[in-house]
Amino acid sequence: MRDSDLARQTDLCVKCGLCLPHCPTYLKTQDENESPRGRLSLIQGWARNELEADQTLKTHIDQCLLCRACETVCPAYVPYGEIVDRFKGDTTDQALATSFISRSRTFLIRKALERAPGGDLEARLLAAGQSTLLRRLARWIGFGGLMEGLPKPSPWPQTSALGKPGTEQSAEVEIFLGCTAGLMDRETIQSILLIFESLGIPVSIPSNQTCCGALDQHRGQTGPAQKAMRQNIDAFSSSPKTPPIVSFASGCGAMLSDYKNVLKDEESASFSQRFRDISHFLAATPWPEDLLRPLDQTVCLQVPCSLKNVLHQEQAAGQILKRIPQLKVVNLPSTTKCCGAAGTYMVDHPEMAGVLREDVIEAILQTGASALLTSNPGCATHLRSGLEARGRGDIEVLHPVTLIARQLRNT
Ligand code: SF4
Ligand code: SF4
Repeated sequence: MRDSDLARQTDLCVKCGLCLPHCPTYLKTQDENESPRGRLSLIQGWARNELEADQTLKTHIDQCLLCRACETVCPAYVPYGEIVDRFKGDTTDQALATSFISRSRTFLIRKALERAPGGDLEARLLAAGQSTLLRRLARWIGFGGLMEGLPKPSPWPQTSALGKPGTEQSAEVEIFLGCTAGLMDRETIQSILLIFESLGIPVSIPSNQTCCGALDQHRGQTGPAQKAMRQNIDAFSSSPKTPPIVSFASGCGAMLSDYKNVLKDEESASFSQRFRDISHFLAATPWPEDLLRPLDQTVCLQVPCSLKNVLHQEQAAGQILKRIPQLKVVNLPSTTKCCGAAGTYMVDHPEMAGVLREDVIEAILQTGASALLTSNPGCATHLRSGLEARGRGDIEVLHPVTLIARQLRNT
């Protein structure tokens, strides 16, 4: 037996196959090895020392999006995400022995993640995203879709609360930005601050916070992932009031709510318990009736897998958008699967990510909406790039709270 805990966890699968019609990679390939049940069998074989973690086996596991749609329908409650992360952690050295380009991507992602939010690097990358020459270079190393989907540069939000020592003493909410927020979604950060200001809720943004750890955790890099988790727990523990920790990127939020399952101690349990997704938090907060101006527009709402399958808060964004008078919100059909962004999946597996994105883009175009709302910057970047490729760059992609902030009467 190589890993008896992993073998025990995979034994929970009763091979019923109920998850198969919900798995995006199985639906596209019709290959059992690309299904949840097949992947669990492969991991089980490795854990029991019956199979080697060779390149073929690892590729089947790597091609999983970790969208966790399978988990939500599994009658045996198989902890699929935890199993895959553990397997990748166990086989991490082998997983790193890949091509030069793949290792270069890992290095670049790691360097970007080491930066605190709001750094010069982010401003330079945003400017670079607008350069044709650099876009071509990015396409060559596999970052093309990512660069093309970045929003136009906007200034870093100016606020007296931003990282200022002492503000945490009076804060009723602490905001988690993560490492990519400044790069991918500065307008959303500004919007959140404006909404909290309008509601009279004091906030703070702890300055020692770092990446949530998701990208490392899902790539089998458990050491750096847990280091980032510990840093965040420390960064958010200076206030004696222990206010809610609010995040606007549902991908990061899914990881923050999972700290308790990874670190399995009291500190991480308390941290995860304090976590709230921004839409969920705002939906539970009473608002003055006339806070928002009406908006006569039809928008399409995409619910990221992290919000739906991990946080189980898929209704919250729709609930807060209902507070904008006259706004018509069209949901994507419930059969719509993962868009293919999935952390670094869009960079690591551009072909499958592109195929999955096409289905979502088609569904968006069917709605006739003039804007697409999504709660995850990764999905926003991937879908923005896809809309531009279809000649529909006129469909603006933004976070639900950004639309709400634009309708505030007092701004
Ligand atoms: S996490 Fe998503 S892609 Fe991976 S096996 Fe489950 S349903 Fe399929
Ligand atoms: S639904 Fe659950 S128990 Fe059934 S095959 Fe899928 S993972 Fe296994």
